[in-house]
Amino acid sequence: MSSDTFPRRSARPVPLGGADLSASIRADVTTRTASLVALGVRPTVAVVTATDDESTAWYVRTIAATAERTGIHCEIHAFGPEASTNRLRTALVELSRDPGVHGIILQTPLPKGTDLAALRDAISPEKDVDGANPVSIGRLLANQRAFAPATAQAVMTLLDFHDIELQGKTAVVVGRSIVVGTPVAHLLVQRNATVTLCHRHTRDLAASTRTADVVVVAAGVPGLITGEHIADGAMIIDVGTNAVADGGLVGDVDADSVAGIAGGLTPVPGGVGPVTTALLLANTVAAASTADAIDRADRGDLIGAAG
Ligand code: NAD
Repeated sequence: MSSDTFPRRSARPVPLGGADLSASIRADVTTRTASLVALGVRPTVAVVTATDDESTAWYVRTIAATAERTGIHCEIHAFGPEASTNRLRTALVELSRDPGVHGIILQTPLPKGTDLAALRDAISPEKDVDGANPVSIGRLLANQRAFAPATAQAVMTLLDFHDIELQGKTAVVVGRSIVVGTPVAHLLVQRNATVTLCHRHTRDLAASTRTADVVVVAAGVPGLITGEHIADGAMIIDVGTNAVADGGLVGDVDADSVAGIAGGLTPVPGGVGPVTTALLLANTVAAASTADAIDRADRGDLIGAAG
């Protein structure tokens, strides 16, 4: 790692923003979508929700608006907070069979008591653009080709975009969920970092995080990471998105407290979030680009195919 990559004691950490990266992924998606439309395939992503949570609705509208700007069609299937596991499962099975749908996103939160595993099982791995199905996760852990969870993919893409070297470095991931922390830890190991995975039962979080060149925080706890958790010059990726009273979003890192210690920090909002959205669309285009999807369009049985 060069000293340029890990500046020491900067007054403010270098902002590891996601806006430029997201724009360049979206530009690529737009070009690839236009090529597919010319072949008769309109890339289509379906988002399934079952909540009346306003911040989720806002997030899903953002995905839909971003998708439509790139030429991808986005269907929102909003079932409301009373939806049963059976109802949601049936919808996911139907979308998995629908030749006009290339990508499926199951948006959390889901109603209390929902059998999340049954729902993730119902998403076809070929359409699993957010890497939620156990087959996708298993293939990822076996180092086989699969869609990784888009947020985990976004963390890695951001690290690369900002030239943060990983080989031989020490990385600590805070949060072990199956869609964020665990796949991030695995992807960091794949890139030859030495990784510690922390969670709510970790006895001395600061003692772990202080060992890290790179800290990835995905706990959903505002202000969890402060200056006392961070080594001089460490690069911090803040995945956390926590709604605050004024309607804004804050991450899991206390940005004021790590100023003067961290070498770099992703902003929230404007860091991991926009890259995640762009990668969901890139994955949808990849799913729509398979020979099978194009064959179906040739046979004319693709629902909603552009002419
Ligand atoms: P989750 O609730 O499933 O998992 C949280 C993890 O954090 C758990 O493993 C838990 O053990 C750990 N944790 C909780 N409190 C802790 C503490 N005090 N110390 C150490 N570890 C602790 O959440 P998730 O789905 O993984 O999401 C994590 C955060 O990332 C949330 O804020 C979520 O909104 C955000 N998120 C952001 C994006 C994005 O695109 N930016 C996408 C997905 C999730």
